[in-house]
Amino acid sequence: MKTMLLALFLIIGLTAKTIAIQQTIYLTLDDGPLPESKCIDSLVRVERIAVNIFAVGANLSSKEGRINYARYKSNPHIKIFNHSYSHANGHYRKYYRDTAAVLKDFQKNDSLLNPFSSIIRMPGRNMWRINGRSKNDITNGIEAADHLAANGYTIIGWDIAWLQDSITKEPSIDALGLMEVIEHRLKRRNTFTKDHLVLLLHDEMFCSAIMVNELKKLIEEMNRKKLRFAYLDSYPLINK
Ligand SMILES: [Zn+2]
Repeated sequence: MKTMLLALFLIIGLTAKTIAIQQTIYLTLDDGPLPESKCIDSLVRVERIAVNIFAVGANLSSKEGRINYARYKSNPHIKIFNHSYSHANGHYRKYYRDTAAVLKDFQKNDSLLNPFSSIIRMPGRNMWRINGRSKNDITNGIEAADHLAANGYTIIGWDIAWLQDSITKEPSIDALGLMEVIEHRLKRRNTFTKDHLVLLLHDEMFCSAIMVNELKKLIEEMNRKKLRFAYLDSYPLINK
């Protein structure tokens, strides 16, 4: 009897520990719909994992943009969030000086995309505003972020970005190298919210056979390490 009880306590203890340390990854893909979005859409349908898309409304002005956006909308593994209508037209400093115009730009995107959540990401800025907690990358954009938060938006940046060289299109790091960085950050609890890691990707990076393969490899590694994929609307409001 004593042995059985001990075994039971051990099982309960181990289960609690497993639940407590389960770490969560939020895959976020920015700037779509773009021509490459169809590749991401196909990959996600095969991998069947939670993917968060930060969409730019201006890209729906082309027929191809609307077709690729429809792919996203019909994909049961994708949730779409607001990444502004104009993406600052690429002129970030000027854009963020006019806080009222920034708010209008996000509201315009809301009326076009009709997202289910008030979670947004600012173009060109890694800024966070979650339930009173905040983080900024640079000064330009802070007032705009505060103004967006005051108007009901939750702003989510990223913990790690997987980028590519703008000219050679080579990735900054390969999948296995990136996985090491991710594990290191999670282990050190060096993320905006501990045990939760937001990874920034861009649709345009993942259409070549090599990069599709790299992304598959990354997902495989994450599955192997028992990381959980989640949608941003389940991101914790409090850093416990
Ligand atoms: Zn962007």
